[in-house]
Amino acid sequence: MTKKIAILPGDGIGPEIVAEALRVLTFLNADMNLGLEFEQGLIGGAAYDEYGTPLPQVTLDLCQAADAVLLGAVGGPKWEPLDHAVRPERGLLGIRAELKLFSNLRPAILYPQLADASSLKSEIVSGLDLMIVRELTGGIYFGQPRGVRTLENGEKQGYNTLVYSESEIRRIAHSAFQIAQKRNKRLCSVDKANVLECTELWREVMNEVATQYPDVTLSHMYVDNASMQLVRAPKQFDVMVTTNMFGDILSDTAAMLTGSIGMLPSASLDESGKGMYEPIHGSAPDIAGQGVANPLATILSVAMMLRYTFAEATAADRIEAAVNAALDAGVRTADIFAEGNNKVSTSEMGDAVINALKVGV
Ligand code: NAD
Repeated sequence: MTKKIAILPGDGIGPEIVAEALRVLTFLNADMNLGLEFEQGLIGGAAYDEYGTPLPQVTLDLCQAADAVLLGAVGGPKWEPLDHAVRPERGLLGIRAELKLFSNLRPAILYPQLADASSLKSEIVSGLDLMIVRELTGGIYFGQPRGVRTLENGEKQGYNTLVYSESEIRRIAHSAFQIAQKRNKRLCSVDKANVLECTELWREVMNEVATQYPDVTLSHMYVDNASMQLVRAPKQFDVMVTTNMFGDILSDTAAMLTGSIGMLPSASLDESGKGMYEPIHGSAPDIAGQGVANPLATILSVAMMLRYTFAEATAADRIEAAVNAALDAGVRTADIFAEGNNKVSTSEMGDAVINALKVGV
């Protein structure tokens, strides 16, 4: 059975980094007979320039027909004067909503070779490998009612609603437990059950779903403690699962523990495991077109795609090992360069990963 991948390079450095990820995927596809098929589409500013909208129907159709989507990044100064409704970033939000990608996976991995890039002491973060699973389509960012109203005494009042139904909690719980099963089988659910009834229900449902995953150890932590533990001893975590807003904040903290934005992949999954995979960074207009961007976050996003949508764990392991080997060899793009290393371009980093795949590290 063929597996269709929609490729959306986007704007800025997007086309440069996606080209390298695609080379890696094409090599593995031939080497391991993975049966992958690729088709490219436009999104963001590039789509606006062609179609007058950042998410044209033709792109949406392509993504809906695909089993997975690989996205570069969108946005840039050229499109900033545009109306909000047609800004490149709207294309991204639109596609996440249209594809019902409710489960956002953000790993924070610190390769030991880059431990000096973190603002924390190297012994605290070296070898860090944690995954935050964030609920992406519910919670306080979407809850109704919301707004700013004027009270009888003339004072203005802002309000939002934190709301989760059992089914919403249950599906993100299943997603997180299944991810924990593919890792070290430890899941920490983060809530504020001591104050918020909504997350009391969150905890209850997590406990209920846990009975279906006896191989995974579930623990609970309040969000204030979790934020403290993430900077005190982040290696205690394997997988964390949490609400939309808590996940938004904690995943940025976790990502920054690694200090290298060009290294971090992400995935957003729907109920059937179909996913959109993208680096966490943006389109980096300041370095676009120079051939110096780090393609590793995008290459590692492809590894996540193989692991989570296509259940090709061996292929995913091979990519991750090849990235490790390239770093071991001292190959570095400018963003992760330190004295004594070999500074390379975007495509040379792609070459280093493919060479490592060829020699079968
Ligand atoms: P950014 O992530 O694009 O860049 C921040 C800094 O990190 C820049 O100095 C950039 O050069 C550097 N950087 C980012 N990725 C890199 C890589 N792979 N290799 C080397 N250096 C890298 O964030 P920003 O500057 O705040 O935003 C730029 C544009 O990207 C904006 O239009 C913003 O809306 C958009 N954006 C898009 C996404 C997305 O597509 N998912 C995410 C964030 C921002």
